[in-house]
Amino acid sequence: MGKWSNGVWNWEFKWRRRLRGREVQWLEEMLGELRAGQHLEDEDPVFKQVWLTPVPSNTKAFIWRLLRDRVQTRENLCKRRVLARGVATMCPLCLQEEESSTHLFLRCAATSPIWYACSGWLGFRTGEAFESDQILELAQLRVWQWLRVKIDGFSYSLFEWKENPGVCILSL
Ligand SMILES: [Zn+2]
Repeated sequence: MGKWSNGVWNWEFKWRRRLRGREVQWLEEMLGELRAGQHLEDEDPVFKQVWLTPVPSNTKAFIWRLLRDRVQTRENLCKRRVLARGVATMCPLCLQEEESSTHLFLRCAATSPIWYACSGWLGFRTGEAFESDQILELAQLRVWQWLRVKIDGFSYSLFEWKENPGVCILSL
């Protein structure tokens, strides 16, 4: 993942495939911010946990971008002047608010049922109704498949994974 050299941490990532244009941009942006804010983030347990979580590296990068509000939402693209003035910034999924990270992950009427379903599955029940069982099942299946392939010793059945993800994750 990296090493110290003359008192400076140098990241060394190994990618399974060649990074594509947008991914290279994200990586450069992330590394720049890591260099600039490494001290602060080193003290924040949330960022430490992101890097220690056994998920694909692109998922870690996405979570990091989300926590830093660097996801390419219409709001952020307008702030960075990637989108021209006058371009609609409304969320295309619900057409109710500007598309921002906060909107997409907390308030959007179209996506919030997915997050409620996932949080309910993980044991963080919010009490709100949801209608996204199929999306949740697909997410459960994909994560389980990924863990079976990537984590040595992960031998839980899909049933066990669905029934008690916390036990499975804590045993990693
Ligand atoms: Zn929306």
